[in-house]
Amino acid sequence: MKAVVYKAPGKVAVEQVEDPEIQAPTDAVIRITSAGISALDLLLYTDRTAKAAPGMVLGHEVVGVIDRLGPAVATLEDEDRVVLPMNVACGFCINCIKGLNHACLTTNPDKPGAIYGYPDKGSYLGGQAEYIRVPFADFNCVKLPGVPSDQWEDDFLLLSDVFSTGFYAAERALVKPGSTVAVFSAGPIGLMSAYASILKGAIEVYVVDSLQELLDKAKEIGAIPIDYSKSDFVEQIYAWRKNNTNLVHALRTSEAEKMPGVDSGIAADESNSHAINRLAEAVNYAGAVSVAGSVDNLPWKKLSKKGVSVSMGETPVIQYIYNLRNMIIAGQAKPSFIIGKQYTLDEAPLAYDDLVKKKPGHIKVVLKTGLEH
Ligand SMILES: [Zn+2]
Repeated sequence: MKAVVYKAPGKVAVEQVEDPEIQAPTDAVIRITSAGISALDLLLYTDRTAKAAPGMVLGHEVVGVIDRLGPAVATLEDEDRVVLPMNVACGFCINCIKGLNHACLTTNPDKPGAIYGYPDKGSYLGGQAEYIRVPFADFNCVKLPGVPSDQWEDDFLLLSDVFSTGFYAAERALVKPGSTVAVFSAGPIGLMSAYASILKGAIEVYVVDSLQELLDKAKEIGAIPIDYSKSDFVEQIYAWRKNNTNLVHALRTSEAEKMPGVDSGIAADESNSHAINRLAEAVNYAGAVSVAGSVDNLPWKKLSKKGVSVSMGETPVIQYIYNLRNMIIAGQAKPSFIIGKQYTLDEAPLAYDDLVKKKPGHIKVVLKTGLEH
């Protein structure tokens, strides 16, 4: 089959690799119709995180159909349409039973937790390919309605990682109906965090970035875009709140002065130390911050002085994916608004290059295998 393989920093290639086989009776092989390129793939591509071994098949965002099933798979049938949560989990270890499926104790011989197409995460081949082997298929394949390439294909694909991760980030930031939220920055996870906050009933969601295309997307979903290249983003949020929301006016002056910021902060995508420090400033006393990207350090002193709760960690996607899938089916969520250009699998090297160069229309890109039937 054809697959996207890592070659060296800044280089991937589309090569013929061996077709995946059923290795255990609980396995399935999926014929992939769409695959995403995620921030994690780009970190590997640009050599900024764990080292990928040359030849590794990348990717953990997958929608497709069941091509073959092991004899012990009980709940799936050939040609069932499925999406894969990025975490490879067993469903029966103690961590999976507790809902910590990102820390499964069965699927990675070296440490807790496994992900498709990522080094040190269980050596599973990735999903930027024509086929993928899925262990414990009853647990790791989430059934979907419809047919490949229908109006839900791209929405369903985002369930594997970013939509679920954005929802988890909002949940960990304690976003509730009526909440005020600030999100830094507006990459795919930031936009999904903002979108999830709105779905959860937040009434003011400030999305902070400097790229106009991303700020326009934030505005499109009803968030308030804040351009940090113009001036300090915290001051902009304070000013916006003070001048534009009746909420602040509903407070007594002394209350408003003590609570000029937001209830929740979400650090997404590429949040550097300065950005996190300012985000901590923007969150009110007794608020909450969740970290959905990678950061080197956090302003612990400032956060602890204000009694802000802090949360981080990989998303146990399976815990959210069924409800989010149902929201898509019911027409209450359409996360694919972040998807721009689509490429064929053969065009993957170009897609990676265009993403790294942040070309317009490349907030999130998708690879289509052309294997609908
Ligand atoms: Zn497990």
